[in-house]
Order: sequence, then C-alpha cells, then structure tokens
Amino acid sequence: MNTFEDLNLPKQLYNAVAELGFEKPTPIQEEAYSVILSGKDMVGIAQTGTGKTLAYLIPILRDLKYSEQLNPRILILVPTRELVLQLVANIESLTKYMNVRPLGVYGGTNINTQKKAVAQGCDVLVATPGRLYDLAVTGVLQLKGIKKLVIDEVDIMLDLGFRPQITNIFDLLKERRQNIMLSATMTEEVDVLIDDFFTIPTKIAIAVSGTPLNNIEQSSYQVKNFHTKINLLRHLLADKEEFSKVLVFISSKRYADKLYEAFEEDYGSETCIIHSNKSQNYRIRSIKQFDEGLNRILIATDVMARGLDLDKISHVINFDTPSFPENYMHRIGRTGRAEQQGKTILFFTEKEAEYKANIERLMSHKIPVIDFPEEVLRSSELLAEERPVVGDVKNHNRNTTEVVRGPAFHEKKLENTKTNQGGSYLRKAKKYKKSQTRGDKIQNMRSKKK
Ligand code: ADP
Ligand code: MG
Repeated sequence: MNTFEDLNLPKQLYNAVAELGFEKPTPIQEEAYSVILSGKDMVGIAQTGTGKTLAYLIPILRDLKYSEQLNPRILILVPTRELVLQLVANIESLTKYMNVRPLGVYGGTNINTQKKAVAQGCDVLVATPGRLYDLAVTGVLQLKGIKKLVIDEVDIMLDLGFRPQITNIFDLLKERRQNIMLSATMTEEVDVLIDDFFTIPTKIAIAVSGTPLNNIEQSSYQVKNFHTKINLLRHLLADKEEFSKVLVFISSKRYADKLYEAFEEDYGSETCIIHSNKSQNYRIRSIKQFDEGLNRILIATDVMARGLDLDKISHVINFDTPSFPENYMHRIGRTGRAEQQGKTILFFTEKEAEYKANIERLMSHKIPVIDFPEEVLRSSELLAEERPVVGDVKNHNRNTTEVVRGPAFHEKKLENTKTNQGGSYLRKAKKYKKSQTRGDKIQNMRSKKK
C-alpha cells in the first residue's frame, strides 16, 4: 500500500484528504490504519511531526456513521487549548464533505458557553482533561456513549501532571470502548497508564527517521550503580577538549536533580539542566547557554529533550538505559546531525543490560562495551531503589521505577498557548535540519502569553 487511494476510503473522506495535498500516508498513518479499524486498543509512538493526528483521525472518521444523537461517540483528549482548536480545525477540513459534528472544549474560558454548545450535541468531542471533567460532572455532558477514546500527546499530558484528571475521566466512560494513545516518546508513566487501563494494546513504534546511525559512534560502560555512574561521568568530563558539548540524558526529573547536585562541586558553572519542573524561563536560559557554548554540559529528561535541535553536540551520554528502545534512538539522534560525526556513550547496570539488548535488537547493531576505567572509584552507596527488596522480587521493577510527579499544573496555566503544533512533516521532508520554529513542543507549550 502506497497512497491514500489504496486505503479505499469513502469518497467524501478521500477527496478531503486529497484536497489537503496529501498523497501518501506517513509510516505511522499506514500502520495505525488497520489496527484502529480492527477495533483493538492501540499505542502509537512516533516522533513529533510524523503525522500522528491523521493516523487516528482518518480511520476513526471513516467508520463514523451519521447520527443525530446528542452525546458524543468519539472523545479526543489533548493537553492544551491550542491543540483542541487545531484538532477541531483538522476534523472540520477532513469532514468537509461529510456530516460530522466536532466540538472543542477547554479550560480558561466561560464554562456556560461550552455547556450550551455541548447541549446542542456533537459527534466528536475534543477536550482538555480538566474542562472535560468539569463539564461531565455537571451532568450536561454524557460520556456513556463514547466508543473510542483517543489520548494524544500522552507523554506531555502525563508530564504536565494530568494523570489524576485522566483517571477520573476513565471512571466516567463505559468499559467497552476502543482506546487509542499517541505519543512521541515512551516513558515509564505512559507505560503505567497503558498497563492500568488498556486491554492488550497493539503497540506501533516507528523508529526515529533519519537518525544517521552511521554518523554516530556508539559505546557503553557497564557500571555498578547510580553513584558509580556519577564518578565515571565526572571522570570522563574532565577531558574538556574531547567532551566539549555534552548532552546527558536521564530518565526522571528526580535523578536529573540528583545528578545536577552531584555535579555542583566540579562542574557547577559548566552545567545546566532542563526538565518539566523547571520554569519556562529557566529552561530557555539553560538551552540557550548550552547551545551557545556557555555551558558545556546539559542534563535533560527524555520528554523535555524531544525535538531539541542543538548544534554540534560532541557527546550524548545515556546516564541510564532507556527501557523503551525508541527512546535511545531519540536520544542519540541529538548528535551526529547534519553530516557531523557524533558520539554517544551508554551507562548500563546489570539490571539495565536487558534494556541494552532490546536496543541492540532494534538497531541490529551491538554497542561495544569499554572496560570500566581502573582509576574511577566504585561506589558502594546505593539509592533506596537500588537496594534489594526483601521478599518481593516480583514487584521490584515497579517499585524502582517510582513515578516522580511535579506539581499538577492547573489547566489555566496551559491556556493561551500558541504553538504551531503541525507543519513539520512537509518541511522536514524537504530539509535535513529541523525547522527552528518547531522546537520542543513542551517548551513552546507553556511559554506564551508574554
Ligand atoms: P505529530 O502529531 O506526529 O507531531 P501532525 O499530525 O501534527 O504530527 O502532522 C505534522 C504535519 O504533517 C502537519 O502539518 C500535517 O498537516 C502534515 N501531514 C500529515 N500527514 C501527512 C501526509 N500523509 N503527507 C504530508 N503531510 C502530512
Ligand atoms: Mg500530534
């Protein structure tokens, strides 16, 4: 299958797609199509700008029968008001020749106006979680008719602390429904959510496109524990010429802070940090300082660093081994850009060796292991989660990957975002380098209104 024509879409839908100027489905669109039509739960992971929106809208709209019922049948949750508006516009253009009623609701505006709109009936409801819940508890909005639930940008949603709202919404839905989730990165939090609410979902993961693996020299060290990793990194970074611009990836905000603190003494003035608990200004400053070379070292979490387009990074350090192999691809893709030569180093503990094997399978490439340097101190200090759990071997994993949550951001803070969330697929196809304006979604997401 190569073109949209091959999907055998109903004429009305096909014509609308053709009018958008799209001829070929992107890889995620191609793969998601039959899974969504089959009615199975689905989790789709693909980089920002790869066309995830149409990946679910096309099969969903294809199956949507005309109806006059008041209650929505499709619910799409997104993290920001901007995305609500954008999605409604997307749906409107796709259903130009169909009789479908989309409606968008979001926080920060008069709820009564939205109550009236809801009361008029809709087929596809696009919403931010907080406002949706508020509308549902007033009783104006009935969610029992929801047949398909889509959570888009789920990694951002969870990173912004929307988990409780999402859980509440699940409680209001009928059990029998199809769940569809889209994300640019796979995180522990996303995984836990899937585990809790999804029924054996089909997972579609599209490998990071254009990651020039040949440009990236990969290596790894087996390291005993977190504190020994710190010692090793400290040791490596002492070579300032070789390690001239280093992006350090770490899986959680809490570990990122721990590492940052540990670096204070040796590399304090050279290190900056970004994760979603830091203010927007702080993050912008960090990235700028790193990009311009004022800071040699940037510590970042996975979700935060997505989409970052930084120049001339000498090394990407994987301070921990991602349990989702795609995340490794995202991480190392930050180096070796634009024909430059990049280097990446992976630290893995005995426990993480399994993750490393998964990554190697995905890449069909073994990551060479370098002997642990004699001169580096092996610490025997263990983090609480590194200590063996007595009598509870089975749950060990879950406990150690404890989810660290920042303060729940009130939806109000998210209002008025003006990010252009789309547009990069076409642009990227033409240009090697990612457009500057696109940047990191989260980053744009909470800036605004200044
Ligand atoms: P994602 O959600 O994966 O970040 P989007 O769904 O926002 O990506 O799509 C990114 C851009 O690509 C949008 O501007 C969209 O119009 C465009 N696009 C989507 N599907 C196609 C396609 N099949 N061919 C060309 N462009 C597409
Ligand atoms: Mg998207």
